[in-house]
Amino acid sequence: MSEKKPPNPFEEIQRQLEKMFKDSNVTVSTQNFSESDPFTEDASGASKQTPDAPDSAAEALEKIRNFHLKPKEIRDYLNRFVIRQDDAKKVLSVAICDHYNHVRRTLAGNSGAASEYSKQNLLFLGPTGVGKTYLMRSVARLIGVPFVKADATKFSETGYVGSDVEDLVRDLVKAADGNIELAEKGIIFVDEIDKIASEGGAGSRDVSGRGVQINLLKLMEETEVNLFSPTDMMSQMQAVMEMQRGGKPKRKSINTKNILFIVSGAFDKLAESIKKRISQNELGFGATVADKDEDLSTYLQFAGTRDFINYGFEPEFIGRVPVRCACTALTADDLAHIMTASEGSVLHQYHDDFKGYGIDFDITPEAIVAIAEAASEEGTGARGIMTVLERIFRDFKFELPSTAIKHFEVTTDMIENPLNCLQALKAKNAHLQKDVWQSDVKRFAKSFEKTHGFTLEFKSLAIEAIVEEASDQDRTIQSLCEEKFKDFEHGLNIINRHTGQTVFKLGKLAIKDPDKELSKWVVRCIENTKES
Ligand code: ADP
Repeated sequence: MSEKKPPNPFEEIQRQLEKMFKDSNVTVSTQNFSESDPFTEDASGASKQTPDAPDSAAEALEKIRNFHLKPKEIRDYLNRFVIRQDDAKKVLSVAICDHYNHVRRTLAGNSGAASEYSKQNLLFLGPTGVGKTYLMRSVARLIGVPFVKADATKFSETGYVGSDVEDLVRDLVKAADGNIELAEKGIIFVDEIDKIASEGGAGSRDVSGRGVQINLLKLMEETEVNLFSPTDMMSQMQAVMEMQRGGKPKRKSINTKNILFIVSGAFDKLAESIKKRISQNELGFGATVADKDEDLSTYLQFAGTRDFINYGFEPEFIGRVPVRCACTALTADDLAHIMTASEGSVLHQYHDDFKGYGIDFDITPEAIVAIAEAASEEGTGARGIMTVLERIFRDFKFELPSTAIKHFEVTTDMIENPLNCLQALKAKNAHLQKDVWQSDVKRFAKSFEKTHGFTLEFKSLAIEAIVEEASDQDRTIQSLCEEKFKDFEHGLNIINRHTGQTVFKLGKLAIKDPDKELSKWVVRCIENTKES
């Protein structure tokens, strides 16, 4: 007779929860659902939302109800942020207008429109860092709908290892501040879609890639996604708590019919095979155009449905993304243009970062060109700009806030050797540094006074000694003084009790050995008191 295993408490709780969860689905399916959302309430049932949060979701929905944009208006908005990618902007603007015009009609109760509508999910092809995600983020911001992005590679077929594609929809609810109605009109962006093409092309046995495609396909069509993930324990407990709390019935699922899906990927290998196909047609069997610097991504514009199926996509899946567009690689000129013309340029971010310390900088046109060229060599599209700028500015960002320097210029020299330029800049402004140090010492004295009620007056020789020690040890005045005068107030308190003194003048000796100097003061004070 086999011995009975002791019950595993965790499995038991999980089983009970799953049972309750299933039961709750049966019950709620017959109820009228309210629009409120479980994620936004705490265990007491009180709403955690900020006062204006529901308003902003309501405003967003109102905006969709009044959607009136024309494709060219969307294109013009995108032009403010995204450089190049004119085809993608055109295709996207039209698809967005069609989709949200349809959503508007459905919201207005035009059911005829709903039954005939086939969704314009998009497929963006093209190298990394050329603006595929940026286009979508910008457009989602313009329309005011929630947006989520994920890499296709993180999903698994079952969702038990890796994530479940349905998590995307649940994330959309979170992005909509818990407003399900708004989430149902959101945008989901799935990147690296080329990585889930089944290896070996159509008909291969790569079940996991195909499984993820099929799961995504279901979402793209129309399905109800449970708000509580069946594989997530926390989520299930939340569901049970919601159920026990009673009160107004809540919606438990979200419909994906009006969610717009964009899938994208670099599709390098596809570009190669299209190139082969085209060159064979043009130049005869087996011929290829020899050019090692050639940008293969330009061939992606010729990708047809058959190419995607051969690449390993299910025909049903690829049929669900009817709007396709190849984004072009960005040249060094484009990167220079992005830095100067895009409203979202990372250069603005650096300006803001320095502005936080009252510092500004100019950048010469030659430096822009040099940065763009270096960024282009990174081979990561516009992301290369960030990499190059980070390298140039890293030490400046660290050092300058502690100096008197309020302005500098970014030149080509600085790109080649940022550290040398920084040192030269600091040397040139060394005469201003004394004021900064003095004000740092004053700042410390002020904070000491605030905390302990004693005024420390540093004589000029004392300030010189602090500054010398701080620069020798490469430390800030603040941290050095904090350490030196850590226990100072005890001695000062003794003196104060005997004499009532609250203002203390500190000379060089008080900096060299503060404890020794303080002991001397205390002894002298006690002796003086005894004498009198
Ligand atoms: P991907 O094409 O891989 O989706 P992203 O759109 O995420 O690349 O681009 C990364 C960042 O680079 C963006 O956030 C944006 O700052 C910048 N960027 C990329 N392409 C462009 C572009 N065409 N115009 C302006 N900025 C861009």
